Amino acid sequence: MRRLRNAKIVATLGPASGDAATIAALFAAGADVFRFNFSHGSHEDHRARYGMVREIERQTGRPIAILADLQGPKLRVGRFGPGPVMLEEGALFTLDMVDQPGDASRVFLPHPELFGAVAAGHTLLIDDGKLRLQVEQVDAERIRTRVVAGGVISDRKGVNVPDVIVPIPALTEKDRRDLSFALSLGVDWVALSFVQQVSDVLEARELIGNRAGIMSKIEKPAALGQLEGIVRASDAVMVARGDLGVELPAERVPPVQKRLISIARKHGKPVVVATQMLESMVSASTPTRAETSDVAGAVYDGADAVMLSAESASGRYPVEAVAMMNRIIEEVDRDPLYRTLMDAQQQPPLPTRADAICSALRDVTRIIRAAATVSYTTSGHTSMRAARERPDTPILSITPNVHTARRLALAWGVHSTVSPDVRSVEEMVEVAIAATLREGFGRVGENITISAGVPFGESGSTNLLHIAALR
Ligand code: PGA
Ligand code: MN
Repeated sequence: MRRLRNAKIVATLGPASGDAATIAALFAAGADVFRFNFSHGSHEDHRARYGMVREIERQTGRPIAILADLQGPKLRVGRFGPGPVMLEEGALFTLDMVDQPGDASRVFLPHPELFGAVAAGHTLLIDDGKLRLQVEQVDAERIRTRVVAGGVISDRKGVNVPDVIVPIPALTEKDRRDLSFALSLGVDWVALSFVQQVSDVLEARELIGNRAGIMSKIEKPAALGQLEGIVRASDAVMVARGDLGVELPAERVPPVQKRLISIARKHGKPVVVATQMLESMVSASTPTRAETSDVAGAVYDGADAVMLSAESASGRYPVEAVAMMNRIIEEVDRDPLYRTLMDAQQQPPLPTRADAICSALRDVTRIIRAAATVSYTTSGHTSMRAARERPDTPILSITPNVHTARRLALAWGVHSTVSPDVRSVEEMVEVAIAATLREGFGRVGENITISAGVPFGESGSTNLLHIAALR
């Protein structure tokens, strides 16, 4: 089973997609990576979904990446007793330290740090900035505000405080608990929310080691001054447009998206564009034209993956949203302009063996019109570097390591497979040919290109480029 596109789809699981049948349908419709949002759901919810995804993997034989997205120091209000409430413009609304269900006059704000940091005149933004509250008075236990822009507020909605730096560590106590739980499950990627500086990533690396790839979510203005360093320190990045567009004026988000994609592409790190991509599909079976254009635009920009949040987690049309995204990406993939753009953005290879081989592979593949590029990888590095080259044939990645195979499901153009280590060049060719035919990437008579490292199975040994005919 193969996808007919290069860019990948990340689908967030939630109450609308928490059962095995829906997850299987999301996968069939095109989801390559499942995101577990640790801002919502219990560990038991995530454990159950983890089992369901791995079962689909077993049934289909396709490695699937699971991304554990840690909440990070995201501020959220508590819960509301009667369900969502309406805050009218001009009304008074209090955020306090009383752990009781909220109503139209008050709500619990479970972040003591904030009561010391916020002052009269500051703005509090609720629910991705949909509601705007102006602080009138603060004491040790309550923040009294006036509603400047009203609307509906409900349980656990996010709070942004663009006017102050809130003194909260990059990984909260909850994040540390969620992280060790997620790693014990065996997730492939961990996303860090609200990364502000390189040291935030290094701190997480201390805890995670090589057990999962680290994806830094760029959603704080503070991170924009250190993008290059953050990309280097991370294994992947996300343009987290939701919070970014709350903390920054909305019009500043598109240039950041383009800049971050370009930096990530230069470093060969997967980059995900996220949030509100098909937002109207939360409640409608078709997206707006602007949304289809946004998804296509992110792919034309060179993103490795595009992401669904509420659309697949809590919307009415989770499977339709993935199917729509799949069709949009396929359409871009068929457009010759896409290829022109990928070539135009091509960055020079680094002076390493892996880059030398992958760069040559790209040229050879094009010259002989190979059907596929087969990449043998142990750590995943060579396949990531091959993806960085954006070759115009699929990258069929072969690894003996299932964790590597799963992690690579995020990378542009990589069709990831697991196969026992080979011991000789002859065996390498045999396995590559068999995999290409089996996975539907070529027909007898066509050529493939193969990259590998000899001695086989040794990470960082990439030194071989081979051409083989399918037979
Ligand atoms: P979130 O991150 O959905 O976890 O908030 C993505 C974003 O902010 O865009
Ligand atoms: Mn966010």
